[in-house]
Amino acid sequence: MVRKIRRSVCPYDCPDACGLLVEVINGKAVKVSGDPEHPFTRGTLCVKMNRYQETVHSPLRLTQPLLRTGTKGSGEFRPIPWEEAMERIIERWQKIIDQHGSEAILPYSYAGTMGLIQRNAGHPFFYRLGASRLDRTICSPAKEVGWKVVMGETPAPHPDEVAESDLVILWGINAVATNIHFLHGVKKAKQKGAAIWLIDTYQNITSSVVDQTYIVRPGSDGSLALGLMHLLVRDNLIDRDFLESHVQGFEELKEKILPDFTPEKVSSLAGLPKETLESIARTYGTAINPFIRVGSGLSRYGNGAMTIRTIVCLPALVGAYWKKGGGCFTSTNTARAFAMNEVLREDFMAKKTRIINMNRLGWTLNELKGPPIQSLYVYHSNPASVTPDQNQVLKGLSREDLFTVVHERFMTDTARYADIVLPSTSSLEHSDLYRSYGTYCIQRAKAVIPPVGESKSNWEVFCLLAERMGFDKPFFHQTADDLINHLLSIPSPMREGIDQKAFAMGKAVEIPLPSDARTHFKTPSGKIEILNPRESHPLPCYLPPYEGDYPFRLMTGPSFYALNSSFREREDLLKKEKAMFLQMNPTDAEAKGMKEEDPVIAFNQLGEVSFFLHITPKVPSGVVVAEGVWWLNHCPGPRSVNTLTSQRLTDQGGGSTFYDNTVDVKLYQE
Ligand code: SF4
Repeated sequence: MVRKIRRSVCPYDCPDACGLLVEVINGKAVKVSGDPEHPFTRGTLCVKMNRYQETVHSPLRLTQPLLRTGTKGSGEFRPIPWEEAMERIIERWQKIIDQHGSEAILPYSYAGTMGLIQRNAGHPFFYRLGASRLDRTICSPAKEVGWKVVMGETPAPHPDEVAESDLVILWGINAVATNIHFLHGVKKAKQKGAAIWLIDTYQNITSSVVDQTYIVRPGSDGSLALGLMHLLVRDNLIDRDFLESHVQGFEELKEKILPDFTPEKVSSLAGLPKETLESIARTYGTAINPFIRVGSGLSRYGNGAMTIRTIVCLPALVGAYWKKGGGCFTSTNTARAFAMNEVLREDFMAKKTRIINMNRLGWTLNELKGPPIQSLYVYHSNPASVTPDQNQVLKGLSREDLFTVVHERFMTDTARYADIVLPSTSSLEHSDLYRSYGTYCIQRAKAVIPPVGESKSNWEVFCLLAERMGFDKPFFHQTADDLINHLLSIPSPMREGIDQKAFAMGKAVEIPLPSDARTHFKTPSGKIEILNPRESHPLPCYLPPYEGDYPFRLMTGPSFYALNSSFREREDLLKKEKAMFLQMNPTDAEAKGMKEEDPVIAFNQLGEVSFFLHITPKVPSGVVVAEGVWWLNHCPGPRSVNTLTSQRLTDQGGGSTFYDNTVDVKLYQE
């Protein structure tokens, strides 16, 4: 028996990017635990990853290429050799290119794996092919815009600094489900006497770890931020020294915008009593170093970028940005740690091709002309489940003339619609390089077990496809490790000062933050730009969310037991979640004559979805909550939650609006 403990990294789309220790016996991962030497995650994992070996060696893993034999969506396939799969793909693509041009081919991927090499492995290939480009904006581009408009390239504070704060506000983030290691610092702050608040649209699992939860109307957070600023100014709870030396546009905000955001008005917009607004503002304004951790969900509204922008302005008024332990954290931006142009290879594009927003896949597959999409290549993404407007996506995927290839570990909803399915490695079976959007850690991970079955990594498959297409660039003749070595040979100021020895050993290391990060703001003016003259709205303001035609606002919150549609292969996690519930306030349920666990249907203009009802006072009246994205074969009806979410985009950034939808609910009747 050969037993080894190897280091790796959690590859999923989560800000924590946990360090893993993998126990390997005879080439099989038998146990996965947290790496105690990881500077941020410190040896603990979430419930999803604690038994990652069961995902890696799941009996549901795809182990051979498959060719469709049944109708699209039926999931009927027969195994074929890799050789044949490659031949079929290339032959079909050549025909499509001859008839329609290469822009008729569309790659579709997002963050099923976060490693820089495997995640981006398709970019060079599809640039060289001349395929349509995908605007990868499904997550939180509006959040990035909101931060950048005010703070430019200023780095967010170190997340552990929250431990120094005397008031922590988790704003629109269900941290217990989505950012659990951030709570390490929050807990420390609490032990030292800090107050911990949650501002959200319903009492989720994170409510249980905070001192106070404030429930706001969905999409109204921007009005709350402006209302608090109104009160801070009225009560002279502002830091004039900081505003004068480091902020641009405070006087304009004070004169032109804030007078309108009286407690009366904000109370009616946000749904909080006036006294509560006064109390929040007083506590925030008198805190020494308040820290706001902003989630992503509140940016997934039609007003998402503006909402984040207004919240980011709030700490500027009280000078929290220059106090250790204070400020605002949206995400870390470590993009410049590595020369990503060496991975993406945009220079392989012979001419600029069209760009397609990934949130509009339904429209793209059904409506787009010039040329219409004839082939979709999906890798580490499951658009049939996770992309908005599911009915339109499935209609598009059902097109007989659409040639769909899916490279996956499991028979997902999308894979069921493929013409060819290629088996993919898990993160333990390939090499990669990781950075995180919730920490300043970077880490290199090598494959710790051989590929399961005949699975291949994204990198390997794109190299094979490049060879078959006759792409002669040496770039496609290297291994993932060669490319990682090349990247690491290119110096970056961001990586200066990291613990090189530990990094070379495969440990997570932290990128040091500039010592003047709290006083030198990386904006064109060098100041925090409350007034940004380059914007169509030079000052932050309130943009209302989507009104909608139905009586309930639908919140599509995260599940504690899954990550988007990932981990749905795990029976143990499915059992814990029990069933696909729609949560509703008791008053609303009573008015509709509904009882606990009744089968119900939520519907709107886009379609309808079956749920079991869970009646709870944790959800305010007028709101319903559906947590998690379920695979269709686990749903009580034929559709999952993204049937109810629209293809509308955010105000800036082209982001998704998953939280900005309305529905009605009726009892299911056979
Ligand atoms: S999903 Fe997030 S919290 Fe869970 S192990 Fe991965 S990085 Fe850590």
